[in-house]
Amino acid sequence: MAQVIAAPGPKKYTRTTLKGMTLPELQDWAASIGEPPYRGAQLFDWLYRKGETDPRAMDNLPKTLREQLAETCDLSTAHIAHMTSSGQEPTRKYLVQLRDGKQVEAVSMLEQGRHTVCLSSQVGCNVDCHFCATAAMGLVRNLTAGEIVDQYLLVQEDRPEPITNVVFMGMGEPLLNYDRVMAAADILHSPQGMNLGGQRITISTAGVVPKIVRFTAENRPYRFAISLNATTDEVRSAIMPINRTWPLAELLAAARAYVARPQRTVTFEYVLLAGINDAPQDGRQLAELLRGLRCKVNLIPYNEPDPLPGQTSPYRRPTRLAIEAFIAALSGADFPVLTRWSNGTDIAAGCGQLAVSQV
Ligand code: SAH
Repeated sequence: MAQVIAAPGPKKYTRTTLKGMTLPELQDWAASIGEPPYRGAQLFDWLYRKGETDPRAMDNLPKTLREQLAETCDLSTAHIAHMTSSGQEPTRKYLVQLRDGKQVEAVSMLEQGRHTVCLSSQVGCNVDCHFCATAAMGLVRNLTAGEIVDQYLLVQEDRPEPITNVVFMGMGEPLLNYDRVMAAADILHSPQGMNLGGQRITISTAGVVPKIVRFTAENRPYRFAISLNATTDEVRSAIMPINRTWPLAELLAAARAYVARPQRTVTFEYVLLAGINDAPQDGRQLAELLRGLRCKVNLIPYNEPDPLPGQTSPYRRPTRLAIEAFIAALSGADFPVLTRWSNGTDIAAGCGQLAVSQV
């Protein structure tokens, strides 16, 4: 057997990342260093309810433990590298830098008394929706629960208005990073954490059917959204390749099973792309497709990306007239329809405009 020789050099020790740990995990960690479990609850309170990142400020912990935390643990996973304010609305876009140098974006929006934060779930994305700017990055990696929660905390630190809503509609496909996204949502929802109501947290998917089935079976308390974007398999597969794996019939069957549970509603997002899915016939078909399904539909007029040198997007936002004709074609629908004019399009913070060049 080959002899293993330790590499020379300074002895490395790994720091423990506490951010992202759930309450039982923090209690177990406290026990592992010989502390009583209630220290786990105190840490949970400091990390999430108070958003404290300096152990020296944790004045209900013994001094020795505070020193141990400072020397061996990381209490934060990210910082804001850059912030851009919209000139149109009170929308801010944050470039959030992670400890390995990778970056994601988060968006903060103030409207109608709400402060909504849009969080990323992955660095990049591999679902490859053709109209979405994040797709061009490919998937770099999943975010940890701590990195997701830190986006929230960094935004809250920057803006005084208390965050009232969280949408997992930033970069990435939340259901392809299921466990970490749910761990983060659970921390945001926890009464000992950020204490956000379950109905104020929305998980959005491009249509990962097995994970929708799991989400339904687990009876998660969160709101749920599906990016539908077309009414036929032909069109949906052409713009969203994920539809070839899980076509409309399977996707809608999973949505129907989800809303079969009491109190459940699904939101369908429908990006309006000129000449592709915006004809009145598409509107009528949408009304039929979703008939009897407890849902609402958010129409999102396509946000054009910042043009890349030598490249133009093949997609266009429909004219206002075309959008109105589409809405009129939905008049027979048995679900509410809302048109979402994205916030912050002047700073590329709108739906589908999130991408970072330095990954
Ligand atoms: N991957 C998840 C979470 C991202 S949500 C999902 O697909 O649901 C981002 C939303 O923005 C999706 O509804 C998507 O369909 C929409 N979108 C993507 N690109 C867009 C663009 N250029 N203009 C408007 N909406 C866009």
